[in-house]
Amino acid sequence: MSAAARPCPICGQPADPAHRPFCSPRCRNVDLHRWLSGAYAIPSREEEEDEEDGPGAAGAGSDESEDEPGTPRH
Ligand SMILES: [Zn+2]
Repeated sequence: MSAAARPCPICGQPADPAHRPFCSPRCRNVDLHRWLSGAYAIPSREEEEDEEDGPGAAGAGSDESEDEPGTPRH
């Protein structure tokens, strides 16, 4: 089974099919924690940019709806 041969990305030990791709719930937790830490940093920045674009996009948005022929009118 090739799946079981894959090493745990955290500690490099052979992954357990029950916890793949990790070798144990502990390594799974470590990866989850890493992922959450990174995920929190990246989207929060994008949200800040979105808020800055909000007012400007709102004005351009109304113009775009009139300019787009493909958009079905209500
Ligand atoms: Zn591991």
